[in-house]
Amino acid sequence: MSLQLPTYSRVKMNMFGVGRIMADSNGPQKDWYSILSANPSDDIQEIKQKYQKLILVFHPDKQRPGLSGGEAEHLLQKFIDVDQAWKILSDERSRKEYDLQLRACELKQSWPVDAHVTLDEMNWNADTECYTYSCRCGGEFILDQEDIQEAETVVCCDSCSLSIEVQKVT
Ligand SMILES: [Zn+2]
Repeated sequence: MSLQLPTYSRVKMNMFGVGRIMADSNGPQKDWYSILSANPSDDIQEIKQKYQKLILVFHPDKQRPGLSGGEAEHLLQKFIDVDQAWKILSDERSRKEYDLQLRACELKQSWPVDAHVTLDEMNWNADTECYTYSCRCGGEFILDQEDIQEAETVVCCDSCSLSIEVQKVT
């Protein structure tokens, strides 16, 4: 008899839970990496080079005369964004924090909720003491009995990226 199955889905589920809380409490963030035309995998030197190039392009002193008010404002906003992006990404701590938020958002997107089911729609497996539910990919959602503490629990499929939200009460 194997008990290792629920562990993996529980880990993913916990990550999902954390992600959801973080993404919601912080609201939508600007994409600081794309503002600097950088990638999350870039090291600090690469990001610095990109920042230095962009900050010159958008610097108010570098703008050609005769810009319309709208254009000037647009460029100023870019300048402010580039400056802000660098402030966040150049600081090791705030970059790490931002990376975590980013990952949390990706996590949320990569595990879309496929269905809402109630506990009694799931199959009880007495051997493993888990509830299971078939995913349309052919995989399974496995809910460990211990994990049913809250009214709603998100469970990830054991073989694809879908998740379901399980309601305890019917
Ligand atoms: Zn699946």
